[in-house]
Amino acid sequence: MSSSSLIEHEIKIKQPYNQHKEEGNSIMLRYFIWTIGCQMNKAESQQIAGYLDSVGHQAATSFSNADLVILNTCVVRQSAENKVLGTLGLLKGLKNKHPNLQILVTGCLVNSDTQELKRRFPHVDLLFKPGDYPELIAWNERRGVFIEQEASLSTISSPCAFIPIIQGCDNFCSYCIVPYRRGREVSRPLGEIVREVEELARRGIKEVTLLGQNVDSYGHDLPGHPDLADLLNELSSIDDLVRIRFLTNHPKDISLKLIDTVASLNKVCEHLELPVQSGDDDILRAMRRGYTVERHRELVHTIRRKVPQISLSTDIIVGFPGETEEQFEHSLSLVKEMRFDVVHVAAYSPRPGTIAWREYQDNIPSEVKKERLNKIEELQAAIASEINSQLQGRQMEVLVEGRKKGKWFGRTRSNKLVFFEDAGDWVAQLARIQIEKTSPWSLRGEVKKIIN
Ligand code: SF4
Repeated sequence: MSSSSLIEHEIKIKQPYNQHKEEGNSIMLRYFIWTIGCQMNKAESQQIAGYLDSVGHQAATSFSNADLVILNTCVVRQSAENKVLGTLGLLKGLKNKHPNLQILVTGCLVNSDTQELKRRFPHVDLLFKPGDYPELIAWNERRGVFIEQEASLSTISSPCAFIPIIQGCDNFCSYCIVPYRRGREVSRPLGEIVREVEELARRGIKEVTLLGQNVDSYGHDLPGHPDLADLLNELSSIDDLVRIRFLTNHPKDISLKLIDTVASLNKVCEHLELPVQSGDDDILRAMRRGYTVERHRELVHTIRRKVPQISLSTDIIVGFPGETEEQFEHSLSLVKEMRFDVVHVAAYSPRPGTIAWREYQDNIPSEVKKERLNKIEELQAAIASEINSQLQGRQMEVLVEGRKKGKWFGRTRSNKLVFFEDAGDWVAQLARIQIEKTSPWSLRGEVKKIIN
């Protein structure tokens, strides 16, 4: 899992909601999905929205004009869990005023002990585990909502789609709650993923991001053991698909075969998420990450040699129990040495039930964690600023995703965010952009031409 990609996000509303109505015996609801967490949660919320649209429910613009609210939750960090609990409290008040409001909760808050959650949150109508769509569909059907054809689990709101390919994680890193909440690894059959991507490409999707807590484990539990490289090869032959990405990798599990496949397939973008988490071997051992700093270093060198255009993102946790100043300095110097394009840094927070929570005392004061986090962020901002400044004057291929504050935005193959201004309609176009201004976080440029 990328501890980095903790984002708060609300599903974008494409059309205003209509009035609550009944058609035959079916109850049509206005729904609002609130999502917090990683890309996996974002992808699952898109799938839920696709299903709700396909059975005739309609998107609402906020909690206050919804009949059905779905919270897609994350408890990977304390800050995320606090937001989830705060939102559940808010919804309790709303339900008191509007007893017909339906509240559904999914995501990492939902563990195997749903009875305990039901006791704590009696105002919630349904708790379903991440990806347990049969439970959601059964709930809907109990309310009289049926569809004659197979429900669609995908919506299209941009040229990019996120496709979960493996659920759960078998790794049990000592600080991580994910394996307890999402369970053991379960891969989706390769043919099913290929069919889904073919359909999405037919409907206009140009870029897919394959998702899993550890995509490098993909397929080990399937008949014939296909792996991620096999899946990339199959997806590459889909005509209308232009780009393929995947995340998150695990330094212990990423294979040379995969790196060679990234190097050889044109459609696979030159970007990898490879979380290192610490630059100190003793801390990595306590984290139970299963590799050393040297192994990570060699891996980065191999990837850069085989895929010279690669951009690399990593994650670092600071303030892990017992992390000394010297051990923290090891992380700092690794960041300096490796010159990643992006570093997502998080302060350790103990998650009840994990190995680290059971075995170690959370003994680094929060102000020290904050100071360490700031140091890494400052260093990385300087590095990213230097790396991005080298792109000035270059022309780069950008897949345009939409508009923000009057500017078009999209990403390069190396996952750099690019903004540009133009009067034309650029959504879902591949544009060649000349980079004119750079910052550590994004680039600005001018359109040179349409590529497709
Ligand atoms: S246990 Fe480790 S590999 Fe698995 S999701 Fe958590 S951090 Fe990622």
